[in-house]
Formats: sequence, C-alpha cells, structure tokens
Amino acid sequence: MKASVWKQFVARLQGSTVHHDVVRYGPDVEAVAAFEHDLAHRPDADLRHSADDLRRRARSGAPLGSLRHECFALVREAARRTLGQRPFDEQVMAALALDDGSVVEMQTGEGKTLAAVLPAALNALADRGVHVLTFNDYLADRDAAWMGPAYRILGLTVSAVQQGMTPEQRHAAYRADVTYVTAREAGFDHLRDLLATDPGGVVHRPFHFALVDEADSLMIDEARVPLVIAGHVDRETSRAPRLAAIVASLAPGLHFDTDEYARDVELTDAGIAQVERHLECGDLHAADNLSLLTEVNCALHARVLLRRDIDYIVRDGRIQIVDEFTGRVMRDRHWPDGLQAALESKEGLDRRPDGRILGSMTLQSLLRGYPKLSGMTGTASEAAEELHRFYGLHVVVVPTHRPVARVDRSDVVFTHRQVKERAIVEEIRRAHGSGRPVLAGTATIAESEQLAARLRDAGIACAVLNAKNDAEEAVIVARAGAPGAVTISTNMAGRGTDIRLGGEREEERERVASLGGLYVIGTSRHESRRVDRQLRGRAGRQGDPGESRFFVSLEDDLPVRYGIRGLLPARCFERSEAAVDNPVVLREVARAQRIVEGQNFEIRRTLARYSAVLEQQHRLFLDRRGALLSGELAPDVWQQAPQRRAALEAVAGEEAVVAAERSVTLRCLDRAWRDHLARCADLREGIHLVRLGGRDPLTAYTSGAIQSFSRIDDEVDAAVLEALENVRADGPTLDLSDAGPKAPSSTWTYLVNDDPFERRFGTMLTGPGGVTVAMYSAAVLTPLLLSWGLIERLFGRGSRHRRLPRRDVH
Ligand code: ADP
Ligand code: MG
Repeated sequence: MKASVWKQFVARLQGSTVHHDVVRYGPDVEAVAAFEHDLAHRPDADLRHSADDLRRRARSGAPLGSLRHECFALVREAARRTLGQRPFDEQVMAALALDDGSVVEMQTGEGKTLAAVLPAALNALADRGVHVLTFNDYLADRDAAWMGPAYRILGLTVSAVQQGMTPEQRHAAYRADVTYVTAREAGFDHLRDLLATDPGGVVHRPFHFALVDEADSLMIDEARVPLVIAGHVDRETSRAPRLAAIVASLAPGLHFDTDEYARDVELTDAGIAQVERHLECGDLHAADNLSLLTEVNCALHARVLLRRDIDYIVRDGRIQIVDEFTGRVMRDRHWPDGLQAALESKEGLDRRPDGRILGSMTLQSLLRGYPKLSGMTGTASEAAEELHRFYGLHVVVVPTHRPVARVDRSDVVFTHRQVKERAIVEEIRRAHGSGRPVLAGTATIAESEQLAARLRDAGIACAVLNAKNDAEEAVIVARAGAPGAVTISTNMAGRGTDIRLGGEREEERERVASLGGLYVIGTSRHESRRVDRQLRGRAGRQGDPGESRFFVSLEDDLPVRYGIRGLLPARCFERSEAAVDNPVVLREVARAQRIVEGQNFEIRRTLARYSAVLEQQHRLFLDRRGALLSGELAPDVWQQAPQRRAALEAVAGEEAVVAAERSVTLRCLDRAWRDHLARCADLREGIHLVRLGGRDPLTAYTSGAIQSFSRIDDEVDAAVLEALENVRADGPTLDLSDAGPKAPSSTWTYLVNDDPFERRFGTMLTGPGGVTVAMYSAAVLTPLLLSWGLIERLFGRGSRHRRLPRRDVH
C-alpha cells in the first residue's frame, strides 16, 4: 500500500497518466460481491428477471452508474453458470476501470475477454448498442460465441460481424445489444453508411460505447491508417510501368542517393537529367510536372526503399504488405495509390482496377466518434501519454491474478551483427539441449528464415512462423511449448498468441515447468518497447515459469538509426567476440529505443494537429448530412427556381420532388466534401513551401482548410440548382440519372498502409535535426521555390484545385 502511494506520488510529479493503484476500486468490488452473494441459489429465470428489471430502470432514466454493482454481480453469476468461469476480483477491477472509460493494462492470459463482458452488458442496458472491437475477424467470431451464453442467460443479444456479410446481415448484427466486430469492419460500414442516400441503406446505429481489445495496437500503431471506400470508374492507362522501367535503369550513387540509414531516397542532378531525357517532359520540377514528379518519386521509393520479403511479399500474383508490428500479412491493405501502382509495376504484376476514392477516415477519428471509449491490452503504460493526448484516456494497471514468475533478463549487447547471430544460435543450442522450449522472435521474415537456416546448419530442428506460412499458425503455436521445441517467429507470435507449456500434451507441462518454462529470445530490439514486451509476454502466462532475453548488436537497425556511432568513441566498435559490458554502451543502447519512440510520438502528434481541423469539419459535415438524410433538414435550393420546380410538381407531386431534391443534394454534398478533401491534401503537399517561406505551416494549413470548407455551401447550392435542369419527368416519376453527380455503381473498401510520404511530412515538420528536412529541401524544394508563384497558387484565394492522379475525386 505504502509503495503504491509513493508510486502514485512520483507518477503525479512526472505528469504521468498511469494509475497503478486499483485499491480505490476496493469498495466497488466488495459491493459487487455483496449483490452476488444473494444470487448463487436463485434459478436461472430469476437472473433473467433481475436483468430485465435493470433494463427497465435504465430505460426510465436511472444512470448506469447506479446499476453497476448489481449488474456486474449478475454477469459474474451468469458467467459462472454458463461458462464455468467466475470473473476474479482482478477482472472485476478491470471491468470497473473499463466502464470508467480507461485503458486497462492486463497481462496476457489474465482473461480480458471475460472482463469485458461486465461493462459491455452494463452499457447495453442503455439500448444503444455496445461494440467490442476485436483484433481480427477470427477473434470477433470466437469471442462472441464463447461469451454468448453469459449474455443470453440475462436476456441480452450478442452478434459478430464478419468480412463478407451482406448489408442485411450487418444491419441485424448491429441491432444486437453487444456486437463483436473489428474496428475495420465497423469503420467500413460507417463509410458505406456515409454514402447512403436513403435512410434504409444505413446499417449502423449512432455510435455509443466501444471497448477496444489490444487497444495500443489499434489506438496508437494503427491510429493513422486510413480506411478507404472507393467506387468504380473506367480504367485509366497508367504511367507506372514505364516509370518503373526508367527508374530500374538508374544507377545508385550516380542517379540517386539514399540517406545514411536508407530511409529516404532522392534523385541526384544526373538522375533528374536522365529521367527528363527518357520522359521528354522538360523540367521535371516545373509546376506543370508536379504530378509526374510525384509518380517518379513513388517509382524510386518502390524500387529502392520497399524491400521484398521484408516490407511485402508477393503471393498469388499480388503484393501483400507485411505489418511491421504484427509480422502478419495485412489483408486488403494497399500503399497509397501512386506507390502501390509503382510497386506493382516494379514486380511486373497486373494492376488492380483503379477506382476513385469516395470516402476515407482514419481509425483514430473512427474511434473518437464513439461518445464513450475504453480499451484493454497487455501493454498500455508505455503508451499512456499518447493515449491521453489523442483520446483523453487514462491507463489503469490491473495486477495479475497470480504473481508473475517470468524472469526478464537484461540485454546482451555485441559490437557486430554476425557475432550476435552466432551467440543466438549458441544460446538456443544450450537451452534446447536441456529440453526447454525456445521461442525466438525476429524483426523480419527474411531474418526469421536466415536464423532457421543457421539453426539447421547447427543441427537444430525448428519451426518457422511468419506471414508466408500463416496458415500453419495454429499448429505451430500449439507445439511451441512442447519439450525441446524451437520456434522462430516474426512478431506474429506477439499479440494474442497463447503458448501452453508442454504443448499439446498436458502431462508434459510439469516437466517443462521444472526446466524453467518457455525461453523467449528477442533477436533485436523493436522501435517500440510495447512490441518487445508483447514478445516477452508469450512466456510466463498465468503464473507459469519462463524467461526472456534480448540480443542486440550495435549494427542493428535501431542503434544505427539512433546514430549511436556518433555518440560513442570508436574503440567501442572494435570487433569483439564477447558481449560488451561497458555500462556507457549499454546505457546508450537502452536509450536509443526511448529516443526513437519519442520521435515517433512527436511525428504522430504533429500529424494529429494537422488532422484536427479536418476532423472537426468532418463532424459538421456529418451532422448536416445526417439531418438531410433523416429528413430533419429540408432541402431548399430548388425554391430558387420556382417555375421549373412547379412544373415538376405538377407531373410528379410535391413529395417526389422533395425526395428527388434530397437525393441530389446528398450526392452534391458528398462530392463537395471530396473536393474539399482533395484541396486540403494539396495544401498539405505545398506546406513545405510555407515553412521555407517563414510562415507557420500549421496556421497556414488551418486557415487554408477553413477557407476551403467555407466554399462547400456555395458549391453545393450551385450544383443542386444546376441539377434541377437535368431532372426529367417521366410520367409520374422523376428520372435523376443525369441530375447531379452519379452515385457509385459498385464500391469496395481497403486500408491504406502507412504512408511513407506522410511520415516524411511528419518528420519534416517535427523539426530541426531530421536528415530529411535538409535532404528534402535541397533536392526537391529548392527548384520548386524558384517558382515562387506556386505558393500563391496553392494558398491564394480561389486557387483552382489541381487534380493529382492518386486522388481522383470527381
Ligand atoms: P487475454 O486476452 O487477457 O490474454 P483470454 O481472455 O484469452 O486472455 O483468457 C485466457 C485464458 O484464461 C482463457 O483460457 C480463459 O478461459 C481463462 N480465464 C479467463 N478468466 C478466467 C476465470 N475467471 N476463471 C478461469 N479461467 C479464466
Ligand atoms: Mg485477448
């Protein structure tokens, strides 16, 4: 108790938003237990009756907080009866914190799935639906089926949304009291709803409460991933294959330079000249060639910086992106259009059909659209500051039910990568010799394969789990805890993977435990401490013994990016076969991760500041659209042409005319919004110029966005009025096929992968010191700056919006 008071005090001094002290929930836990005491001997029907009664009270206005103890007690009893699992006090604490709208940190295997049922059931009493946002489709299905009986015995309905469901099925699923769904499916449904021109086409109810599983992954790592809905248009001929061929002929060092860490690539003067000669386009940096320049940069980026079998794999004739954090193939994920096209051309693949983007939103703004939000994960405290800044959420750390018996050893550091690699093989051989299972976590697919090859050379059999063989995942994981098993995995075996000691045979459990349990080896440190901690967490579940250790070399990506060479004297880099034990080196290595993590945070923060204005405008737009769609707001533009309107009314009746005007207005509004988005994207693209021109880029961007937004009204009015001319009266019905923008005939959805150019944009704005700023301004911006007029064109009033190919929005 004393220690925790002290910890809290320190935390407050440091401005931290982590609460380690769950003692404050003590009285609530007791109150829940008191209600529960009475329930044990009552028949099932009685439980149902009590739940109905709670619902009635909630309907007649009782605040949910006043029903919480009783409701949690009921759910606890329901879970005991139906699932054979009575939520532990720790799970009740987690449930209380979740209901308070916090992010709960609870270790792997502690039962987050069950803990979430309590707040989900309570909030479902409000009759407005609850979403449990799961990590993937499989878990949505599993958790809804697994927890279903506990809800149903209380008369609550449960559903799961899956990819491939029809709109009708989705509509029904969102009518359940509790819906298990991935954030992406919920988000895609939301985007589709936003295109509906009649209220019957909307599948969601207004958002109410979301409970996010693996919260840090979704809220931080994936936060800026845009969900996109696109519609069909005719296929345009693309320049990408031609550019790929030109770029493939360029020579490194002569025609292009990469920065020291191979994070960025730029054409040299010779390279620019070469490209200009091939394309016969004149000055590549002329204002008219801006979109061409973008495409050339994409082609170059695809050739030089995107690495096959590291950043992506090619399977079934398609590019499949590998997620850096989870090591998995990301389904339906594309790079931003231009880059995707360039990469497909580089690999000589067929281009997927082009579409126009009809709507898009980031996961972050989707989540912020829920009036009440909470989350749970094994790794939240490292992300506490970000969670607070971006979502206003606090982190609550819930203690484990049983004490943690895993030993986390400190890192072993080597000077050279090769030496480290040998040491890892030795370490695995040693542990394997004793019969202990080993899990080695690698950063990339390529690395996992190399390590496997080295182990096989050393005569050690191993299983490899990476994005290329994800089909065998369940089998590999089931065996990973068996005596003598050696498993190599990319980050895939991180989140949610449950490795049981003894593997498939329960009777081996004790033997493995007596050997020390699972031994987790990390082959390098990740940029994010959370990813490393997830890996460690594979060992020592529910009080099991286990051990974890990371092997690091000064040649690894992280220390190199951090610039460790410049910070340490040269003798530290002299090749040595032994592990380094110089405390200065160890300290710098440890610091690298925190610094890089801090830089990434800074980048996300800057980008978030930029998107704030758009998000606000989006909300205004949605309010307006929603009111029009529901009929709350009557369209009124056609009154400006009373004669034409009266003529239509005479044939089709007033009701039909109002309906037609509504439908046309919605479509015009959608188009105006998309135009606005494109204008803002252009503003962003030009923002480097503002920075160089000495103005504050954020202010310039924001005022530009506000100006652009204010044009929407006039644009919509003009378009709606114009459409009136093209409405044809066809007997008693109105034909709108030529009036206003067309509704898309078919749509599809996808996620846009981390945009490297956005990252560059963020790095540039976060400030001085970045290599990128200097490189970018020298190689790209200087020539642009020469045409000073461009700045006026981008930021001046009434600037016409340029159409870039990757954002074709009309
Ligand atoms: P997490 O998501 O926190 O890693 P899970 O929800 O997958 O953990 O649960 C891990 C395991 O713990 C499951 O096998 C589950 O059945 C078990 N479990 C959870 N809560 C309880 C409980 N109160 N009593 C008994 N077993 C439980
Ligand atoms: Mg889980």
